[in-house]
Amino acid sequence: MQNITILGSTGSIGVSTLDVIARHRERFAVYALTANSKVEELARQCAQFHPKVAIVGSAQAAQELKRLLARQGLHVEVDYGVPALCAVASADGCDTVMAAIVGAAGLAPTLAAARAGKKILLANKEALVMSGQLFMDAVAASDAVLMPIDSEHNAIFQCLPFGYRRLPDEYGVAKILLTASGGPFLKRAVETLDAVTPAEAVAHPNWVMGRKISIDSATMMNKGLEVIEAHWLFGVSASQIDVVIHPQSVIHSMVSYVDGTVLAQMGNPDMRTPIAHALAFPERMVSGVAPIDLTVIGQLLFERPDLKQFPCLKLAYDALQAGGSAPAILNAANEVAVQAFLDGQIGFRMIDQLIARVMDKLPNGIVPDIDAVLEQDRAARAAAHSLMPRR
Ligand code: NAD
Ligand code: MG
Repeated sequence: MQNITILGSTGSIGVSTLDVIARHRERFAVYALTANSKVEELARQCAQFHPKVAIVGSAQAAQELKRLLARQGLHVEVDYGVPALCAVASADGCDTVMAAIVGAAGLAPTLAAARAGKKILLANKEALVMSGQLFMDAVAASDAVLMPIDSEHNAIFQCLPFGYRRLPDEYGVAKILLTASGGPFLKRAVETLDAVTPAEAVAHPNWVMGRKISIDSATMMNKGLEVIEAHWLFGVSASQIDVVIHPQSVIHSMVSYVDGTVLAQMGNPDMRTPIAHALAFPERMVSGVAPIDLTVIGQLLFERPDLKQFPCLKLAYDALQAGGSAPAILNAANEVAVQAFLDGQIGFRMIDQLIARVMDKLPNGIVPDIDAVLEQDRAARAAAHSLMPRR
């Protein structure tokens, strides 16, 4: 029996994870579920999955959750806040942690899981982008097992040789080909993008996801963050990672080998496939996802991304090449800019401009420890707020 903590169980990835677990109750037990504010949904999940612990974002939410659970006669320990998240991510009662909190808020608990040597299913790419080397060092020091959930990185993992150890040259890996759908604005003239609304931007053509990652997909910052994620997960340099636009989202990514072989992983765009893969690895189990019918799909198309159309992608490559604190600054500025766009405070094209200004304003520093990363994160957020246009 694998005992699982799901960080962010009420989110898109969290719900898909529970859907997969529900199909395999004999293999998986839920140790802890966590949510920020969706207390009622968390209470429903507790009634279905009977975790030992449930964590929420505030004292008030904890009171509300306790009331809802008591009404149903459910015995679940309730707590709130970051220390409680770190505790359920590192507890002895848990073997596997699904890291599915969105954004920098997921860093502390995901790192706690790494330090405790857990099997980590990593959806929260922002945590790895921010802390890069420090996170990978924590994983190595504790013998934690890191499984990528991001569909592209899970695909790459599947296309790499079994036991691959972040050394592309040793394994004959020439390049990683990271596929991208291009999002909802692939064919839209850049000049018209200022007028797009949050509702248009979150409407992804192929995937149903949380709001933040949906906006990141529209700007292609999501792909930029994934380039940095691929660098850390697979030990490939920026020049060994090519982004390929593939609007059908059937191929989830590819590995190109020195002998000319290119291996691709295909499937329907449904996160239950990578989740089931990572949960069952090295075995396979049913995920609920139907197989693809290539004769129905008919055509697979590919094109090179236009960096003028998607400046965020270039900003992310630049941050990876700069190293140091640049990826943490990029990530924090992006989180503030995306929230401001969702709140109607800035236009769509201001997202990349704001990030670029923050990157220009803050000096790139070294990040010897996690406190330094969090300090850079705070400084970048403050800079982004100070550079926000007043309306
Ligand atoms: P979501 O917005 O649907 O869910 C986010 C979850 O995090 C919720 O459970 C929420 O309660 C929790 N949360 C948010 N802020 C929090 C805070 N401050 N403290 C504690 N908990 C908090 O997001 P999602 O789409 O499920 O994405 C989650 C992560 O997975 C992101 O890092 C995203 O990039 C990554 N990811 C998602 C998908 C996808 O298909 N949705 C695919 C690949 C990677
Ligand atoms: Mg992805």
